[in-house]
Amino acid sequence: MGIPVDRITYADILEDVPNYCKSGEKMTVISVNPQIVVEGQNYPEIIKFIENSTHRIPDGIGIVMVSKILGGKIRERVAGFDLMVKFLEYANEHHQRVFFYGAKPDVLNDAIKNIRKEYPHLIVTGKIDGYTKLTEEQIIEKINAAQTDFLFVALGFPKQEQWLSKNVEKVQANVFQDVGGSFDVLSG
Ligand code: UDP
Repeated sequence: MGIPVDRITYADILEDVPNYCKSGEKMTVISVNPQIVVEGQNYPEIIKFIENSTHRIPDGIGIVMVSKILGGKIRERVAGFDLMVKFLEYANEHHQRVFFYGAKPDVLNDAIKNIRKEYPHLIVTGKIDGYTKLTEEQIIEKINAAQTDFLFVALGFPKQEQWLSKNVEKVQANVFQDVGGSFDVLSG
């Protein structure tokens, strides 16, 4: 359907994190799931952003199956939620800085409370809920002031991909990930 997806594993992605952090190059991790494949056609800016992203993860068993049927080399699903959890573990282990953008205010607060409990060594640099009245400019200013390593964006498809495609260049962070409903899951 014209949407690129990478043959990568969780281990490959985690191995890349310190390299991106060191070089200052932005690591953009995007979930290529069946919804994006089908509906992405309506959003050329999102397709372009996926094309230019550094890590396009095969997020869905359907993606893996289609690759097998078409003779592709993808063998393993990389789920966006599971990858986010691995990033949190990594950030905890390395005392890194994490910013959360998206979801309803209560969901966001509960998710962060649980994350702080589970990963006491990571640093929560800030949060903005997904229904904020802040302008796009103010959101970017707040994230940049927080000097974060990881930025998780949970606005659902297509908002999170549109936001990232428009703003990654302006936002100072090392690792960007679109995480859909992951904050809802983490909120318990
Ligand atoms: N969301 C948000 N702002 C919006 C729309 C959605 O913060 O304007 C959040 C929503 O509260 C939820 C997450 O995005 O936490 C995922 O939303 P949804 O379930 O609609 O997306 P999907 O998981 O289907 O991509």
